[in-house]
Amino acid sequence: MNILLVGAGLSGAVIGRRLAEEGHTVTIIDGRDHIGGNCHTERDPDTNVMVHIYGPHIFHTDDAEVWNYVNAFTTFMPYKNRVKTTSEDQVFSLPINLHTINQYYGKTMRPAEAKEFIASIGDSSIGEPQTFEDQALKFVGPDLYKAFFKGYTEKQWGCSPTELPASILKRLPVRFNYDDNYFFHKFQGMPENGYTPMIEAILDHENITVHLETWFDPATAENYDHVFYAGPLDGYFDYRLGRLGYRTLDFKKFTYEGDYQGCAVMNYGDRDVPYTRITEHKHFSPWESHEGSVCYEEYSRGCEPEDIPYYPIRQVKEKALLSDYVKLAEETGGVTFVGRLGTYRYLDMDVTIREALDTAAAFLQSAESGTKMPAFVKNPL
Ligand code: UDP
Repeated sequence: MNILLVGAGLSGAVIGRRLAEEGHTVTIIDGRDHIGGNCHTERDPDTNVMVHIYGPHIFHTDDAEVWNYVNAFTTFMPYKNRVKTTSEDQVFSLPINLHTINQYYGKTMRPAEAKEFIASIGDSSIGEPQTFEDQALKFVGPDLYKAFFKGYTEKQWGCSPTELPASILKRLPVRFNYDDNYFFHKFQGMPENGYTPMIEAILDHENITVHLETWFDPATAENYDHVFYAGPLDGYFDYRLGRLGYRTLDFKKFTYEGDYQGCAVMNYGDRDVPYTRITEHKHFSPWESHEGSVCYEEYSRGCEPEDIPYYPIRQVKEKALLSDYVKLAEETGGVTFVGRLGTYRYLDMDVTIREALDTAAAFLQSAESGTKMPAFVKNPL
């Protein structure tokens, strides 16, 4: 069959590859002048540092099939994400662990003592936390919440943590030992030459043609047997019901001779520091050595029509609109919406690949059995 994929990021590349391997003819278009979507990496011409152009991407997963999949296309180097945060004039270790707790309270507690102590300051009157703030107050209490989460989250999401779902904070663990690995997944690493060559290798198949700087024209859809759309869901319908809200990021790049901050990611918990974090990109490739350094100050704000959408907001208002777009999408035949933008969800890379593999499998099965391919393989609601 003749397949069109809109978007040459992870979703498009992984789905395209599977279908190409099964003999389908795959055309992938992307409006940007590079593949890789927001995972795109490029070497800085002055320092030769590998830069994560759209912000840091660290690969971590528990899914052995996904880990084997990415390792088949590139060499992954060992990398552990160890994040620090500057708050109230001190540098602490994240995610909150025994070092963070002992340093913050000036104590030398052992694991069981710290657990008991944190339980005593956590708000036990909160049952099942619904909001970000309740989740934090229940599990770490007011001091640590204020120092590490409140200001950062107000900057990151532009609203009060009382308006955000608990699920956002559930991404971060609290540990009663000295493990400062930001992620608790079995597999973690960084592609040796960045993500773009990895995605290039996925796309390198005789049945795949990629056209960059090519925007989707709905009129061309009828030339294909099926379309997979990884662009913004509301954009596919020309925003006719309104715009789904996103946060966008501005990166203020600066260079430095030597080591600017000694780690890849330094968060800033204080509300009066305008950026959320500074990333120093050479530390994402610890096996390389560079004199010069490239850093990004990261600022978050509401996404305007001409900005790049990053984080879907998914509050009550957005979810209602999303539900209307989902109905519209389900009434539209011949197109399946995929990925972070196509399904309006906060997706890590491994989940994106997992879903792309499942979507390709669903398509191959529907093609074989002659059943209709749904608008969503993964329900966005
Ligand atoms: N967060 C925070 N303080 C931090 C780091 C994270 O309050 O120092 C909150 C913030 O609301 C963020 C969420 O936890 O959106 C999830 O953090 P994660 O590091 O997973 O965010 P990402 O790297 O995806 O932006």
